[in-house]
Amino acid sequence: MSLVKFVSREYKSENTIIEVGDVVFGNGKFPVIAGPCAVETENQVLSIAQSVKKAGAQIFRGGAFKPRTSPYSFQGLGKQGLHLLGKVRKETGLPIATEVLDVENFDLVEEYADLIQIGTRNMQNFSLLRRAGRSKKPILLKRGMSATLEEWLMAAEYIMQEGNKNIILCERGIRTFVKHSRNTLDLSVIAAVKKESHLPVIADPSHAAGVRDQIISLAYAAAAVNADGLMIEVHNNPEKALSDGLQSLYPDQFTALMGKIHSIHAIAGS
Ligand code: PEP
Ligand code: MN
Repeated sequence: MSLVKFVSREYKSENTIIEVGDVVFGNGKFPVIAGPCAVETENQVLSIAQSVKKAGAQIFRGGAFKPRTSPYSFQGLGKQGLHLLGKVRKETGLPIATEVLDVENFDLVEEYADLIQIGTRNMQNFSLLRRAGRSKKPILLKRGMSATLEEWLMAAEYIMQEGNKNIILCERGIRTFVKHSRNTLDLSVIAAVKKESHLPVIADPSHAAGVRDQIISLAYAAAAVNADGLMIEVHNNPEKALSDGLQSLYPDQFTALMGKIHSIHAIAGS
């Protein structure tokens, strides 16, 4: 039996290109996914979507099912949230990235999402990974917060083994001993992934930092290490956000970030 894995460069030497609507990952460009942590209201998602689109974001993100540390925290609007995301797509034309928490709601999320996110806490939920592997939609697989590169790639292997080869990996910060940030963005893993695997890998500085004032520099750093794109949380009223307000950029900060990031990536990627 061959031990060559579907995720590996040995199996496929050229970079895999993933299309989410007409947005392309893995072809040397740097698409940016932006939006709030959670879908809260119609006005909130439409307002954020319009501003991030204007700034150059190509995919809108927002959670309808939220994996919260505390069961007493806001858990997301569920189906109603997905419906609001559908409105965002209709109004703005932006494809939608949203998280699926369990096999139970997979069919529902799959109906609305253009890019299905599997979060850090579910990276080794093998039944969920297998279900994702039977989906026709691309999967955004976040790295487990304590996962090694090998464990992360093996999680992707579960998806690929079931037939779905459209996976974008996302480094979102790992647990370390530091107290100045929520997690530590592991920039070195970007190069390590690219060496081992043909799959595109993007960075999520928002969940890595956990605090707003570190995010813009980490985003620039991700562009400089030649990640294949970015996921960033943006909120029109972060003080009132129902989830992850402290790490959400204000729309004008996001616009400023977008003004520079492609030039940084262009230097690093050449
Ligand atoms: C999110 O994207 O809002 C999220 C919960 O991410 P993570 O799984 O990386 O914590
Ligand atoms: Mn979040």
